[in-house]
Formats: sequence, structure tokens, C-alpha cells
Amino acid sequence: MRKLDIKIGYRCNNFCLHCVQGDKRKKFPKRPIRDVLRELAIARHECDAVVFTGGEPTLHPNFLSFVKFAKRLNYAEIQIQTNGRMFSSVDFTEKCIKAGANHFAPSLHGHNSDLHDFLTHSPGSFAQVCQGIRNIRKYTKNIISNTVISRFNYRYLPEIVKLLVGLRVDQIQLAYVHITGTALKNKDTIPEKKSIIMPYVKKAIRLGKASGKRMCTEAIPYCFMAGYEKYIAEAFIPPTKMVEQSFTVDKYEEFRVTKGKSKGPHCKDCIYFVKCEGPWREYPLIFGWDEFKPVQKKLK
Ligand code: SF4
Repeated sequence: MRKLDIKIGYRCNNFCLHCVQGDKRKKFPKRPIRDVLRELAIARHECDAVVFTGGEPTLHPNFLSFVKFAKRLNYAEIQIQTNGRMFSSVDFTEKCIKAGANHFAPSLHGHNSDLHDFLTHSPGSFAQVCQGIRNIRKYTKNIISNTVISRFNYRYLPEIVKLLVGLRVDQIQLAYVHITGTALKNKDTIPEKKSIIMPYVKKAIRLGKASGKRMCTEAIPYCFMAGYEKYIAEAFIPPTKMVEQSFTVDKYEEFRVTKGKSKGPHCKDCIYFVKCEGPWREYPLIFGWDEFKPVQKKLK
């Protein structure tokens, strides 16, 4: 299923310390209506799924009419990538479901309000996203949560997964922070070395699996994932057309690899060299390549 990823404005009511969009909210607070409708109609010729993203897409004043239009165009999957706060309103959740949204991707970065609200820089955001997930869950089980892994929360990944299990999400994604935008400004405090976070990532995966959840990781290469390779999301992310406000990427899956990720000096000796995308290219600029040990073929 080919997917359209459309950013409908970068305005957001969170101010995450790990945000990849940085200052774009000042330049592009909301996208013109006609522009969004046109992109939805054009992409429908090649895409069966659409994900509304941003910024926080639910804050666009015409958000619900965009969802309705996507439904009218008969997109099979209409996903909302969200910080989840607007869904703390039952009324808004009902309107969104009625408009046609059928998949939801809320973000949760902490197991309690102290941690989550600190990372989002937004008091009350933890209580709202938790309530939002509960409200959505009354209508659908298609909820894929996203947790951005940073130096502040990696030790609590197992607790975050326990909370998400309790909130009855369907799938849990743990994504290593992409060190760009605001995360780049906070590069001295936000990212942690992958070799340090991995025991917690693996424990979190085991906990989620034991509770029957679908688990996946993003931006963590194979050389860190021994025994957990099947959870690497890049292997099954669908081909995507990405429509940013100022440019379009027709084949994001290629762009991600050629412009976004990079390989190290020893990667060519690794059995995953072809399959692996490598880390986001900003990571080795900060931490170097020493942690990346090429995976060797097992001798029989
Ligand atoms: S190709 Fe490089 S980054 Fe990918 S798994 Fe192998 S050593 Fe790690």
C-alpha cells in the first residue's frame, strides 16, 4: 500500500525538546485549504493510504474537512499522527472518527507526567494524551503509539511500554531521536549513545511482546538489534510520497536512505550492508562510528 504523508502545518501545542521540525512552526503555521485538497486528490491516483502530520495536524482549523475529503476520495487508511492532546475531548474524537479517520498514531514519551510533560515542555500534555488514547480506543483498536527515545527517557522505556499496554494500543514503536530541528539545538542533552540505550530497548520489546503487542523500532541499525532484527520498522515501512509545505519527495523510502541516513567505514563488511539503512546521518557526527560493529556471518 503506497502512502501519502502530508504535513498540513507545523503549528503545535507541544514544544518537544526532541522535535524534528524545529522553527518551521514560525514559518508555516497552517497550510492553505486548496493546497491540501489538491494534494489529496492528486496523490489518490497512486496512494491507498494517507497520514496527516505536521506539527500537530488536529490544530489546523480545517482539519476535519480534510479528513472528510480523504474519506470521500476513498482512501482505505486515513491515519492521524498526533500528540494526542485534542483527543482528550470526547466530542472531538467522535467528530474525527465520524469524518473518516481510522488509524491513529499518538506520541507518548514518558511513563508519568513529570517525564512526558518535561519532554514536551507542555504541562498537562501527559494527562491529555492518555485520555486521548482511551477515547480513541472506544472506537478503534488501530492505534500505533510512538515514543521518541532520548537521554531523558531511555531508562523508563519498559515502564512506558507497560503504560501503553494498559492503554490498549495495538502497536508500540520506539524511535531513536532524529538529531535535527530542536533535537539538534539540544544535541548536548537529548541524544544518548545507542549502545547505552539498547538493554532498555530490548527489555521494553520483550515486555510488549509478552503482552501480545506488536512492537517495532526505528532508526536503530541491525548491529544493535542482535536477536531482535524482526522488529526493525524500516524493513516494512510502506513506500511513501511525502508532501512537505515547501517541497515534495515522491519516493521518501529512497530519499531517506540516500539523503537522510549514512553508513560507516566498516559497514561494507557487514552481512546487513544492503538491507540496513544505517543511522540518521547526524548521529555519527556526534558519536562517531566506534559502536557500529559489522555483523559477521555465523560459522556452522
Ligand atoms: S551495515 Fe553498518 S550500520 Fe548497518 S548493521 Fe551493519 S554495521 Fe550496523
